[in-house]
Amino acid sequence: MTENNRLRVAMQKSGRLSDDSKELFERCGIKVRYHEQRLLAAAENMPIEFLRVRDDDIPGLVMDGVVDLGIIGENVLEETLLTRKSQGDPTEFRMLKRFDFGGCRLSIAIPRDEEWQGLESLNGKRIATSYPQLLKRCFEAKGLTFRPCLLTGSVEVAPRAGLADAICDLVSTGATLEANGLKEVEVIYRSKACLIARKDEMDAEKEDLVKRLLVRMQGVARARE
Ligand code: ATP
Ligand code: ZN
Repeated sequence: MTENNRLRVAMQKSGRLSDDSKELFERCGIKVRYHEQRLLAAAENMPIEFLRVRDDDIPGLVMDGVVDLGIIGENVLEETLLTRKSQGDPTEFRMLKRFDFGGCRLSIAIPRDEEWQGLESLNGKRIATSYPQLLKRCFEAKGLTFRPCLLTGSVEVAPRAGLADAICDLVSTGATLEANGLKEVEVIYRSKACLIARKDEMDAEKEDLVKRLLVRMQGVARARE
């Protein structure tokens, strides 16, 4: 990518964080037209450009310094952080703001008919998840282990399909679990969307723009209360 002096902001292209991310920048007074086919969208009234990607890529783009800012769920941020640490990749970033959208929890769920006897009862069992690092941290803290069944989608069908004894997945209302004959038994991580920035100082103009954006975001949050 060519260097220019626009503040580069990564956001989810399409998914649960997209609409709220777009709305946030809109409320901050930034005018931008997104094109379905284009990765980049430049703001019309400010030196900012938006990079629209899969949410999983956002923390890495910030930690590698490819983009200046990113809006991401803390769940994905934390999972990426643990993965990158274990691989020796750069993990530095600045946490700028925690938002009131994108709320969800990462929970353990088991078949509805089974009795729950605590996390210990899953020691050594097979657990389906897209968040192996967060799950491992939780199990290790209690001196427990599990065998992973790594899935990036359809995690909730794994027990019924005989692939796993339990799952560890994101929950907001619990309706998906219910529909798959599962019950939530333990929350292991609570998440919200947040704004992160790359670690190394940007040039003065960009730092100043980030400061102004944060003030506007503060105003947006207050207006919503
Ligand atoms: P992508 O195609 O960008 O990889 P995805 O399928 O991984 O998208 P989404 O389902 O759009 O991701 O969720 C994005 C983020 O939204 C989650 O990582 C989480 O932080 C947040 N979120 C809020 N509520 C929920 C929910 N009920 N289920 C899943 N994620 C939720
Ligand atoms: Zn994703």
